[in-house]
Amino acid sequence: MSNQYLVGIDIGGTNVDALLVNRTFENEFEQIAFHTKPIRSASGKRPIDTIIEVVDELLEIGHIADSAELFAIGVGVPGLVNPKTGHVALAVNLDEESMMLGPLLEARFGCPVLVENDANAVALGAAKFLVDPSIEHLAFVTLGTGVGSGLILNGQVFHGSQNMAGEIGHMFIKENDVRCSCGANGCLETFVAGPAIKRMAEKVCASEQETSLKNYAELSAAAVFIEADKNDAVSIEIVNEVGVILARALQGLIMSFDIQKIVIGGGISRAGKTLLLPILNEWKRMRDESVMATEMLQPKKLMICPATYKAGAWGAVAVALGQQNLDQAKMVVQMN
Ligand SMILES: [Zn+2]
Repeated sequence: MSNQYLVGIDIGGTNVDALLVNRTFENEFEQIAFHTKPIRSASGKRPIDTIIEVVDELLEIGHIADSAELFAIGVGVPGLVNPKTGHVALAVNLDEESMMLGPLLEARFGCPVLVENDANAVALGAAKFLVDPSIEHLAFVTLGTGVGSGLILNGQVFHGSQNMAGEIGHMFIKENDVRCSCGANGCLETFVAGPAIKRMAEKVCASEQETSLKNYAELSAAAVFIEADKNDAVSIEIVNEVGVILARALQGLIMSFDIQKIVIGGGISRAGKTLLLPILNEWKRMRDESVMATEMLQPKKLMICPATYKAGAWGAVAVALGQQNLDQAKMVVQMN
């Protein structure tokens, strides 16, 4: 196998990131160039035109003269994606109801283009580039303004019958006084996503309770984790409450799919061990009362995505490899 150049495109709500990598003769992946731009330009350019521009400029930076030389382009995009056809529906970041994204980019760049839902892409990327290659069952849980996950089972993306597998943000937890963006009540993300944590902070700030959160002009989930780190009792209580609910939701994932590794990414994961510890504490409590939990909820099954790892862009690169190539890559890694 000679060198292969792959491009991963991560279409986010704010930016479009593009990564050019070289798969070497030794089956290692080296980053050649990275490029990013706001997806919505002041000039009112359509998001799809910005995406094409970012890739053109990426190839220029990486000295790839002809995009037809690329092995493949992989794309991670939010929305309902049909990976077989490259069709995307409800592509809010593209300002389109429906788009044949894969074929459109294929026609423009003259190389194969594979498209996957962004949550699935980051999970595939984590399985390929972040964790031990022996891991075949993985969930990548994104905690941000919402909660979602991508599932890798038997080394492959698990889509489910309606491409909705892993949408754990809308798993019912318990009734509360919040209406979820999906219309339902009691969804996981109304307890643990960024806006939920912010709401809890606002509630305590409106009360008589003493807390350093009252020093903030603008509250945020990040503020709660910062103050918890500084030993503010009220913030610690919020973080613990979030940790307990997350611990149980992640236990549900493990018990449903016998997952070997859960990677937590997204904005909230920047809290690092302040987020991780309350989850692990609740798992310990569960282990203490159950032999099955002792077996299933080992701390090594949980990790926070490193802040320096570009989960979306590397995920899109993994999509570019395609399933067959992923299996081949793993075989080579194992033989070495
Ligand atoms: Zn919901």
